[in-house]
Amino acid sequence: MKYFTFDELTASYTAQQLGIDNTPDETAVNNLYRLVRLVLDPARQRLGMPIRVNSGYRSVALNRAVGGVRNSFHLSGRAADITTGNVEQNRRLFEILGSLPHCELIWERGGTWIHVAV
Ligand SMILES: [Zn+2]
Repeated sequence: MKYFTFDELTASYTAQQLGIDNTPDETAVNNLYRLVRLVLDPARQRLGMPIRVNSGYRSVALNRAVGGVRNSFHLSGRAADITTGNVEQNRRLFEILGSLPHCELIWERGGTWIHVAV
């Protein structure tokens, strides 16, 4: 991982506030590393500017607390909600992500953030 830390991918304000354990199991850990290797690092490299991770891994309890769908790829560490903090830059990021491996790529809330899964 060149541009992202493991903490960024598992940290959650909601989990912290509600005392929810958000520690990924080994499979999810491996999936998170794969997500960074295949998608997040290459996207960050091409974009040339920082990307913030709003939500990466979610335990079942956390996913329920944030209203995530039941079969969400966040549960297995295969998805991240990311943003540059700027809709125009997110548009560039979305295009870049479209050319990288993914199984889900969703423009969320008018481009406030992007959901990507691999
Ligand atoms: Zn998402």
